Amino acid sequence: MATTVITNISSLVTNDPSLGAGPLGPVQDAAVVIDGDRVAWVGASSKAPATDNRVDAGGRAVLPGFVDSHSHLVFAGDRTAEFNARMSGQSYSAGGIRTTVAATRAASDEELEANLVRHLREALRQGTTTLETKSGYGLTVEDEARALRIAAAHTDEVTYLGAHIVSPDYADDPAAYVDLVTGPMLDACAPHARWVDVFCEKGAFDGDQARTILTAGAARGLIPRVHANQLSYGPGVQLAVELDAASADHCTHLTEADVDALANGNTVATLLPGAEFSTRAPWPDARRLLDAGATVALSTDCNPGSSYTSSVPFCIALAVRDMGMTPDEAVWSATAGGAAALRRTDIGRIAPGTRADLTLLEAPSHVHLAYRPGVPLVSAVWRSGVREV
Ligand SMILES: [Zn+2]
Repeated sequence: MATTVITNISSLVTNDPSLGAGPLGPVQDAAVVIDGDRVAWVGASSKAPATDNRVDAGGRAVLPGFVDSHSHLVFAGDRTAEFNARMSGQSYSAGGIRTTVAATRAASDEELEANLVRHLREALRQGTTTLETKSGYGLTVEDEARALRIAAAHTDEVTYLGAHIVSPDYADDPAAYVDLVTGPMLDACAPHARWVDVFCEKGAFDGDQARTILTAGAARGLIPRVHANQLSYGPGVQLAVELDAASADHCTHLTEADVDALANGNTVATLLPGAEFSTRAPWPDARRLLDAGATVALSTDCNPGSSYTSSVPFCIALAVRDMGMTPDEAVWSATAGGAAALRRTDIGRIAPGTRADLTLLEAPSHVHLAYRPGVPLVSAVWRSGVREV
């Protein structure tokens, strides 16, 4: 395996407190050695060992590739009209998902895969090196299994979301749909997924239904994660913590008891500000969660309805501007926080032994991700040691 050193890094975010002070573990005037798909060495640029190849960062910043732990990218079609109507005054409800379900069912495997790959490339160009994605726009046994097969060919982080909404085919009998999701659909989907998820919300699934679905998934070896407390207060967050879900996602409407549960449990609070931006909804209160001691992740929720952005830098800027996060906290949450939400320790950090996923910015510091919103600052991306951008 060839070795490569990246030298002359003005500011390196490692997310390893043993390498630098504080949660970001920053190293100034740094170098990183990549050996195959792993990071082999981190230290002062002046002390970098000899390697086969050398890249001069030219006084620019390097940070871990972003870990986007929440997206919905196996879909077809477009919801421009719905977005346009919403920005003209209509409110968001979970029902818009049905539009994408119809388009996704009608699409060929090739169309779905090409659309997924296009969005993965789009995210990679913006620094995302790990991306979780879900089913949830099929809502039949065959269509959900197909979505997961297609996703699993492109990412290790695949989530079964048959319980996105009650299938329109079961509108008069939601209980029968829950039976399908926890029975034949789970049988067909479990081999292709790592995670099980449910949209616990008015208009989707209530707390009892969510518990049934997550428990059934867990019995098949899938680890729970929950769409929780997005549009209203509800049982999702506390159910997630109770079931030791890896993540409770959205967390926009939280009681004190919800915040306490997240602060004292093993479940990451994943905030998805693209959704609030795209629906003109109130922001989740990141500051409140951080001050209580919860672990916070930041992700895009990229989907064609409520958050059609693949840009983690955009979400970092929103989190800093509107959710009370410092730039350091937002960058940590979009890298190490995302890794925590996926229960991974090999990504989201730059330290000897981690996967060599690195983003080089066209800027001297990671703070520029929030300081220069909307500017394409990603200059180069390595994923598993391979330069992809
Ligand atoms: Zn989502």
